Amino acid sequence: MRAEIAERIYREGNRLFTEIPEKYDKESVYGEKITKKNGRFLRSWNPYRSKLSAAILKNVDIEIKTNYNILYLGAATGTTVSHLSDILKYGKIYAVEISPFSIRKLLELCKKRDNIVPILADAAHPERYQHIVDKVDLLYQDISQRNQIEIFHKNCERFLPDKGIGILTIKSRSIDVTSKPERVYREIIKKIQDYEYKLRDYKKLDPYSKDHSVFVIMR
Ligand code: SAM
Repeated sequence: MRAEIAERIYREGNRLFTEIPEKYDKESVYGEKITKKNGRFLRSWNPYRSKLSAAILKNVDIEIKTNYNILYLGAATGTTVSHLSDILKYGKIYAVEISPFSIRKLLELCKKRDNIVPILADAAHPERYQHIVDKVDLLYQDISQRNQIEIFHKNCERFLPDKGIGILTIKSRSIDVTSKPERVYREIIKKIQDYEYKLRDYKKLDPYSKDHSVFVIMR
């Protein structure tokens, strides 16, 4: 039986779906399947293409409320952003992406959705978009960069208020190809503690994303 695990997010076994809001066209964004169930249009949320979907399926302690404002670093072409757009009935997503090539596809999505603010910028320089972004309830980062924990911290400092939630996905190889993933993750946890964030949850994302983990922190 299909179960609503949070408002607008549905789970059926190992499959996840978000509900397309009534006001939007019931169309696929990246080739995902759409199912009609009890008058609702549900978009399949592929955990092999979205680490956030993988994290939710792995029961990582994450909540996404429909009124959240989210800062999303590493938006790429908008695969995961499109599902957040389904969920955020009242909030919005500031979607930061460094690649002009990737953001072009995201801009197509933005024409059809009114809750995504696209920002072409380097997340390592949050001062360059602080005139656009307000304080947010959730900061999500998915960029494969060597200094990603430092980038995450810089953005949390600026945009995440007390009790705000940060979600950081880490690809161990992009930090150090020679180290074992466990060692890289231990170092990340140490840095999280040094920055004085509370580590709320941490899980590896296999089998969906090899050598990736997700860390959930609170300010
Ligand atoms: N989060 C996306 C999703 O689930 O749909 C996939 C993100 S992809 C793994 C990583 C993205 O981060 C790439 O599009 C890359 O261009 C972007 N990126 C890398 N470094 C960045 C930076 N410093 N600032 C902003 N975006 C960056």
